[in-house]
Amino acid sequence: MKKVIYPGTFDPVTYGHVDIVKRAVDLFASVVVTVAVNPTKQQLFTTEERVNMLNDSLIGYNTVTVDSFEGLLVDHAKEVGATGIIRGLRQVSDFEFEFQMALMNRKLADDIATIFLMPHEKYTYLNSTIIRNLASLKADVSDFVPPIVQEALKKKFG
Ligand code: ADP
Repeated sequence: MKKVIYPGTFDPVTYGHVDIVKRAVDLFASVVVTVAVNPTKQQLFTTEERVNMLNDSLIGYNTVTVDSFEGLLVDHAKEVGATGIIRGLRQVSDFEFEFQMALMNRKLADDIATIFLMPHEKYTYLNSTIIRNLASLKADVSDFVPPIVQEALKKKFG
């Protein structure tokens, strides 16, 4: 498999997401990290801010590109020429939702496979919601998010 796509909300990107990208980079020729735009969902960061933070956090990964999409993931995967979808599995609780989505995506596009990667154990309890909550309470999040995200969170929460 040559090209894979890694979709997510990335509101904001964490070291857990970066860990998954690194693992995908080691396995596949190129990786497109794509920010899912959902106009009905309120996000902390704009799509542009999320794309910029991803680009900055992934500097040096020459086979990675970052973009965004609105609509069906499998359509965007086809547009960029990806034949695989990367998802991160942190714990069993992720499985049910991910399994359902993977099967639905396969029903929609049989030629696109979903590949699950597990992050380092130290990131298994990490998600963007916890980071937003911690940052809003002015907690130190430097172990969990890249420097550009720390700065952006500081600006948002003062
Ligand atoms: P979240 O809000 O849970 O961080 P995203 O939509 O940004 O979710 O996540 C995109 C993908 O990255 C999903 O497959 C999710 O399971 C995975 N992911 C999110 N956080 C981590 C983490 N800490 N370690 C591994 N994978 C993760």
